[in-house]
Amino acid sequence: MYRVTREIQFCYGHRLLRYEGKCRHLHGHNGRAVITLQAAELDPAGMVMDFSHIKRVLSAWIDATLDHKMLLHRDDPVLPLLRQQGEPVYVMDVNPTAENIARLIFDFAAAQDFPVVEVRLWETDTCYATYAP
Ligand SMILES: [Zn+2]
Repeated sequence: MYRVTREIQFCYGHRLLRYEGKCRHLHGHNGRAVITLQAAELDPAGMVMDFSHIKRVLSAWIDATLDHKMLLHRDDPVLPLLRQQGEPVYVMDVNPTAENIARLIFDFAAAQDFPVVEVRLWETDTCYATYAP
């Protein structure tokens, strides 16, 4: 089995609902998404997938969708105000935890037919969450 891993850095803001810790307030992170693809066989070029193709597709989506956006639960009461102010938001059906952001990136990669097996989201230099089905 072969695996390749690509890291993509982006900045995001969020806050968590139904949570008592510091992340209940609006704040931001310098996040790092670490995406791992796996294949039993290599393509004719000898690759699982070209790193530059992974970057092109996933970085473009992350840049457009998540980078410098406020990631918020759809029930977050601050949403109408931020929208009214023209602030860029990305609305999630689930709490915007590192776990759920990892899952979001995984699902996008899978929808592009990438043979993704794991996405790790580093929320800080010392904390990460991993999603793997
Ligand atoms: Zn946070």
